[in-house]
Amino acid sequence: MAQEEIFKKLVAHCKEYGYVFQSSEIYDGLSAVYDYGQYGVELKNNIKKYWWDSMVLLHENVVGIDSAIFMHPTIWKASGHVDAFNDPLIDNKDSKKRYRADVLVEDQLAKFEEKINKEIEKAHKRFGDAFDEQQFRETNQRVVDNQKKYDDLHERFSKALNDNNLEELKQIIIDQEIVCPVSGTRNWTDVRQFNLMFSTEMGSTSEGAMKVYLRPETAQGIFVNYLNVQKSGRMKIPFGIAQIGKAFRNEIVARQFIFRMREFEQMEMQFFVRPGTELDWFEKWKELRMQWHQALGFGAENYRFHEHEKLAHYANAAVDVEFKFPFGFKEVEGIHSRTDFDLSQHEKYSGKKVRYFDPELNESYVPFVVETSIGVDRMFLQVISAAYHEEQLEKDSRVVLKLPPVLAPVKLAVMPLVKKDGLPEKAREIIDRLKFGFNCQYDEKDSIGKRYRRQDAIGTPFCVTVDHQTTTDNTVTIRYRDSMEQERVNIADLDTIIGEKVSMRRLFEKQ
Ligand code: ATP
Repeated sequence: MAQEEIFKKLVAHCKEYGYVFQSSEIYDGLSAVYDYGQYGVELKNNIKKYWWDSMVLLHENVVGIDSAIFMHPTIWKASGHVDAFNDPLIDNKDSKKRYRADVLVEDQLAKFEEKINKEIEKAHKRFGDAFDEQQFRETNQRVVDNQKKYDDLHERFSKALNDNNLEELKQIIIDQEIVCPVSGTRNWTDVRQFNLMFSTEMGSTSEGAMKVYLRPETAQGIFVNYLNVQKSGRMKIPFGIAQIGKAFRNEIVARQFIFRMREFEQMEMQFFVRPGTELDWFEKWKELRMQWHQALGFGAENYRFHEHEKLAHYANAAVDVEFKFPFGFKEVEGIHSRTDFDLSQHEKYSGKKVRYFDPELNESYVPFVVETSIGVDRMFLQVISAAYHEEQLEKDSRVVLKLPPVLAPVKLAVMPLVKKDGLPEKAREIIDRLKFGFNCQYDEKDSIGKRYRRQDAIGTPFCVTVDHQTTTDNTVTIRYRDSMEQERVNIADLDTIIGEKVSMRRLFEKQ
């Protein structure tokens, strides 16, 4: 099945099984805004906990904060967001659809990459173990041609972005003969800059009202609190501050479900270091973050680093962690070395010193910052799209979410085989024992087979069935979601068996 088809099914599945709903659906929805349902919120909370604990529990020099969404508007002037938090947009005059010019070109680059990868895949199949990819890349004419097209476009595109050259960006779109996916034409407007910040007013009278912004990133709340935390927590450099919170961006093109939203959540960590050591820390955090992703077990081959085409004005190194979504490799997380830009700007605009006195060097300086920045919602989409499987079984088929047990919303379902003979009571007893440690669900409706399918569809890793034997020897069957194998175990052992598999501690110990 085509990847697009699978993605459509995944979106429908998220709605049908209480993971994600379109916001304001009964009013025909609000574009690029989504609500999380009863299972979605559990998965989201588990993702947040996995991130938070990996930062704050595992690193004694990383602490958390929770800053307000509203901040003094000058903060956004100082950070550069008022003047430069723009995306280049372009309209197709026939379809009237709006696109991000940079994304159109990135998609074109991805097409060349895809062609190359297809050739390599084909050849790999043909030559088997004897296949030498390096040699093939250098000698196959189609690969060489496409690689050249990719490199030329990449170079031209990077230059246009770095020079902020909007005319050149449009020219690239024309020269590459990029068409609007809706109208199929190349009738484009000029490229314009569009600021992504939402604003509103604070204050009760119109004369006294102050324009404030909904924060487009959580990072600035950390920067402006860095000295408060450093002093009150007696933190010594290097140290980090982590935060999870909402961010808002008036995205031009809202695409791909919860991949690009107008209201979303970020998990950011700013790590304050001695100037000159930032690139070492950048490498260290790159490695740690990749480990965190890969520990979930979705396959190392589905992740890669992507160097930025254009470094932001404040950065001296930047890389994205990309995951292979059904629509291709896309960014899940950014890791940036932001120099002393933000803190220096806040010194300048606030008139207050934000220096750190380094007792080892006996001098004060503005620390440099390495940040890791990941979207909760994008991580959610990454997890759920990797977990979604349609499987053909001997007699029927099933849709199963192979979520890592540690992240699964419901850890176990307890099912009485029949609704009589004391089995429901026994099942409730088991839930009453286990509910303090795990999110449990009781299910007695329909045949056992149907109940298993329902639990597969929401990703419950364990189903526990209570049958007549249970009433005599206190054993139950436990059925494992992925292998569908069943095992007879003592009720008294359930806590340990399940606890081991859903333990975040075990996941951390693997990293
Ligand atoms: P993109 O290039 O996709 O617009 P970005 O480079 O602007 O993203 P950052 O500013 O580095 O993104 O934000 C850090 C992380 O926040 C991203 O890696 C992504 O996971 C998440 N994120 C950013 N914008 C959105 C959005 N509109 N919806 C959902 N998540 C987002």
